[in-house]
Amino acid sequence: MTEPKRAPGGFPVVGVVGGGQLARMMQGPAIELGIQLSVLAEDAHAAAALAIPSAPVGEHTDVAALRSFAAACDVVTFDHEHVPQAVLGALEAEGVVMHPRPAALRHAQDKLVMRRRLTGLGIACPRWTVARTADELAGFADEVGWPVVAKTPRGGYDGKGVLLVHSVGDAAEWLARVGGPGPLEEGVLVEEHVDFVRELAALVARSPSGQAAAWPVVETVQTDGICTEVLAPAPGLDPDLAAVATEAALRIAGELDVTGVLAVEMFEVRAGGSPGYVVNELAMRPHNSGHWSMDGAVTGQFEQHLRAVLDLPLGDPRPRAPWTVMANVLGGEDASLYPAYRHIMARDPGAKIHVYGKGVRPSRKIGHVNVSSDDLAAARARAGHAADYLRGTVHE
Ligand code: ADP
Repeated sequence: MTEPKRAPGGFPVVGVVGGGQLARMMQGPAIELGIQLSVLAEDAHAAAALAIPSAPVGEHTDVAALRSFAAACDVVTFDHEHVPQAVLGALEAEGVVMHPRPAALRHAQDKLVMRRRLTGLGIACPRWTVARTADELAGFADEVGWPVVAKTPRGGYDGKGVLLVHSVGDAAEWLARVGGPGPLEEGVLVEEHVDFVRELAALVARSPSGQAAAWPVVETVQTDGICTEVLAPAPGLDPDLAAVATEAALRIAGELDVTGVLAVEMFEVRAGGSPGYVVNELAMRPHNSGHWSMDGAVTGQFEQHLRAVLDLPLGDPRPRAPWTVMANVLGGEDASLYPAYRHIMARDPGAKIHVYGKGVRPSRKIGHVNVSSDDLAAARARAGHAADYLRGTVHE
């Protein structure tokens, strides 16, 4: 394995496990700050491996690969939450510095661990239970009302591993599919189906010495279970709700000892007529709900994550414009993206395009567009248009 070459000037090497777009997007701010990134990529053509010269190939489940990768890094962080706890524990025991630390990361890896902990902290969550059989699930659904939402504790993303369950039959079929025949040993998470007003995300960063910074609470818009648009800040959000949601995210970061960026996904609800929230889930890394900050905030989430994991003072998270809209670019039929640039750039010189260097597959997140403006409706239309044009669903 080739060790990253250290630049003169005493700059540290930050190792990122996983070669996806998040690791790739850390490279821009890393270059500007002179910080060196090294990425443990799943293959040589992974999105980050194409952009970061030091990109050894290795599996994130392979302790030996992680050990030799970490040996050449000052701190290790993550592009995803799939490194098993057994692997993380082994590295930690050997003195590898990781941010977030394994004890914090558990809460983003396992939805049951997360629900138990947040409930213990008194953070508002949907009503939930653990079910090992369809009958247990039905018992809970009879109590809170059908339908309910069943989730595999680990391994889900973009709505995979989540099912809206309408009947005992649905439940039995899904449980058999996710767990095989017979009662599940560990069980699945079952939640009440929250009748939410909209989805929000509170994004914060926290450093090992405890400094924290919060971006404004945003609205995330999902289409078919995939986040397609983020509005920053969340339009019309009740200022008290914005304050308590931010406070909750900062409290979670502190109590769980999160280091780096933490995204707290929430549902906005009407609780007895007044606005409230319940927490859906946590991510401990830069997150799709924070991509707007790359262009729309004084400090973007990728720079902030680097500062946090290196325990440097955090940057100013305040927005640069009244509104920034992020539209995700999903893969369409056409595999080539570059031909679309001429039209989009000519049509809208203010649109900021980010692409991930990933192969185009239908509905895969392959990039995003940020537009900042003092006119929210215009920003949505502009960002949406550029994303749709790149996807190939509009042609002018
Ligand atoms: P993933 O880990 O795959 O992102 P989530 O837990 O975030 O899964 O769920 C995906 C989506 O499903 C959410 O963004 C939300 O739209 C919907 N969802 C999840 N849990 C609930 C719930 N308890 N009530 C209503 N909708 C839910």
